[in-house]
Amino acid sequence: MILVSPFLYSGGNCPACGGKVVWNKLRIPGIHVMGEATCTLCHTEWLLDLPVGHSLHFPVHLKKEDGKIIADKRIRWYSEPLALGWSHPDTSPLIPQYIVHKSYSEIILLNCLDYLYGHVLLKLLNASGYLREQPNKGLIVLIPQGFEWLVPDGVAECWVVPRKLSELKKWNIELENSLLNRLNTYAKVYLGMAYSHPNFEEINIQEYTRVKPFDLSAYFDLPLHLCFIWREDRLWLGNSWQERIHHYSRILKLKWIEKIGIIYSRSRYIKCIKKLQKNIPGIKITIIGLGKKNLFPKDVEDLCQLSLDPHTEKKWCEVYAQSHLVIGIHGSNMLLPTAHSAGFVELLPSDRQGNMTQDIASTLQGKTAWYLGRFVEATLSPQKLANIITEMLHHYPHFESTSRKDSQVWKEIKSVLIKSRGAYPDTEYIFDENSSVSLSENQ
Ligand SMILES: [Zn+2]
Repeated sequence: MILVSPFLYSGGNCPACGGKVVWNKLRIPGIHVMGEATCTLCHTEWLLDLPVGHSLHFPVHLKKEDGKIIADKRIRWYSEPLALGWSHPDTSPLIPQYIVHKSYSEIILLNCLDYLYGHVLLKLLNASGYLREQPNKGLIVLIPQGFEWLVPDGVAECWVVPRKLSELKKWNIELENSLLNRLNTYAKVYLGMAYSHPNFEEINIQEYTRVKPFDLSAYFDLPLHLCFIWREDRLWLGNSWQERIHHYSRILKLKWIEKIGIIYSRSRYIKCIKKLQKNIPGIKITIIGLGKKNLFPKDVEDLCQLSLDPHTEKKWCEVYAQSHLVIGIHGSNMLLPTAHSAGFVELLPSDRQGNMTQDIASTLQGKTAWYLGRFVEATLSPQKLANIITEMLHHYPHFESTSRKDSQVWKEIKSVLIKSRGAYPDTEYIFDENSSVSLSENQ
């Protein structure tokens, strides 16, 4: 946490000469939280990112004199909106909705604003850590509208910005002034770190969605259920050429080429689904995601929607929580599905290898995580993907019986051995926490 009110921050150096800077004032352009700072050597005046959120790894600095940005080239998505916001600020009226549950004099501000869905969600998932570890400070989450339903109980205040995600690229002057005035009313304000990749092993997703994730101990009690995740802006294509054509058709806004890609991608999903239905008769299959409805076979449960709302998203989570596997292409679309399902298969594009696991919220560990979490090439054929899924499901009972200490099979073996002790009075059965069973002769 960083103390920002009173604003006594003293870290950082001048991006131009490396000299010490003097910090003057807190600024909140929206996604970024920054400070005005002046270099004590070259006297350049800056807006410097405070080290929270994505700025922990990729800080962005703005020279006030000419609006020049200093930032890593890999994060143009993060630096360019800031530069544009400085040169062309949004002056439209915008006041957040301040929802107060409990008043505190010392607060932690968790800024979850972003124009990308996954980024907002990942930053919001930092909340439970502060609620647990800082009970004497009030936690305030600053979020875009549409995410209120995911805010966990126990938060002191929820500040909701009534704008679409795409609008949050802008630097809104009235929003900034309103936030800064509001922060001035507290004795102390700390800035939450808003880690962009929180540790999922420490996160209970049920605190956010109020949906209980799949219970692995009940794996065999539920009818086999697969959930495919659909999105029309990231497609399952057959080779790298098709991927390139799709990529450039989006950049050049060639809608008719995009449309052909969507139809082709959908046909691959359908081929895979039909193969699975043949391999595993009676298996339940659901398709969920943003897109047109009723374009999949009628024996597939189609829960696609053209736009997202809290009711729909919660309903989707309830389906993920009933799914033995969720299957989809890499992206933030996999966060909530993998947080709730038993396992997953992700189609990972070659240019996303470096982002592997960033969108996976599963809390499985050890061998179970390896077995129930698979990454495959994004150009894999529908038949091969269907075969991988079939094999995973077919062999899971054997995996479970040999590798999981809480497996039903081991419980039954223990039960049988305990019952048979009378028949073998000289034999002692030792059960340890790892579920290994050893037999030893009594001396
Ligand atoms: Zn300097």
